Amino acid sequence: MTDVQPRFHREVTRYDLVSRSLTVSRVERVAPEMIRVTLSGDELAGFVSTGPADHVKVFFPDADGVFHTRRPDGEPTGPVVLRDFTPLLSDGELALDFYTHADPGPAAAWAQSVSVGDPARIAGPRGSRGVPAGISRAILFADETAMPAVTRWLELLPASVTVEIIAMVGDGNWLAGYLGRTAATVHVTGRDASGALQTLAGLAPIDASTFVWAAGEATQLVPIRRHLRRELGLPKEQVVVDGYWRRGAADFDHHAPLDPTDPEE
Ligand SMILES: Cc1cc2nc3c(=O)[nH]c(=O)nc-3n(C[C@H](O)[C@H](O)[C@H](O)COP(=O)(O)OP(=O)(O)OC[C@H]3O[C@@H](n4cnc5c(N)ncnc54)[C@H](O)[C@@H]3O)c2cc1C
Repeated sequence: MTDVQPRFHREVTRYDLVSRSLTVSRVERVAPEMIRVTLSGDELAGFVSTGPADHVKVFFPDADGVFHTRRPDGEPTGPVVLRDFTPLLSDGELALDFYTHADPGPAAAWAQSVSVGDPARIAGPRGSRGVPAGISRAILFADETAMPAVTRWLELLPASVTVEIIAMVGDGNWLAGYLGRTAATVHVTGRDASGALQTLAGLAPIDASTFVWAAGEATQLVPIRRHLRRELGLPKEQVVVDGYWRRGAADFDHHAPLDPTDPEE
């Protein structure tokens, strides 16, 4: 007898938290505002990431080039500067795509200054959540920071799943080249939730085998989440909304409630 998982079931795998010291092996501009920093090194051995929306913590050095971390007793060796990024794996190397936004913090600044041979440090992922079982369609809302994860969704979803991408970006000219040859449909809507929701309204209705994932700027995702969960009444397991950053907040914690006034959080 085959083991049929309930619809939307996602396989969860947990890993020991490993911190890795690596070396920058390539730096490429993969889109006008996206820099790919590829990392390699012996410590990549055993790196596993099987979920489309996995993330690693990337460490950034202080002015003297020191990557501060925590000692085994939990005490930091200095200011620990970390940001979340989506790991992209190929041929035994790990790539990170940095969106070079207009108000660069340590992450966006590092990507613009780093060179081949420079040291890098990452930790994680702590776990992976696989693609949902039994779906026939996926709708992915994503801004620039979530496009690396979109490439992973496209890679990991079975070819039988229809994918519609609602790209909450200002200019979408780079997307075809960035996403590569894909059967997915890409709708460029601009950055605001209103444009994204208008586009959603023009698509075929969300049925019981459609999964919806949304990631990007947290405040723009609030009305999207509200629409999906409240107005359309979609159950929790059918919808994932993840605030990847918040306008005006440095080092935004994506585990923080998207909307602290919403008791659903
Ligand atoms: C699970 C997860 C995966 C992620 N994967 C990626 C990824 O693969 N690639 C990627 O580029 N980002 C990714 N992000 C988002 C990234 O972690 C944030 O954008 C982060 O804030 C960038 O750090 P920073 O040091 O450049 O800016 P910070 O020091 O964090 O912030 C400085 C200022 O810049 C603003 N800011 C931050 N991000 C943006 C932005 N995108 N556009 C405009 N202003 C911004 C902040 O509001 C703040 O005012 C991911 C986030 C999460 C939670």
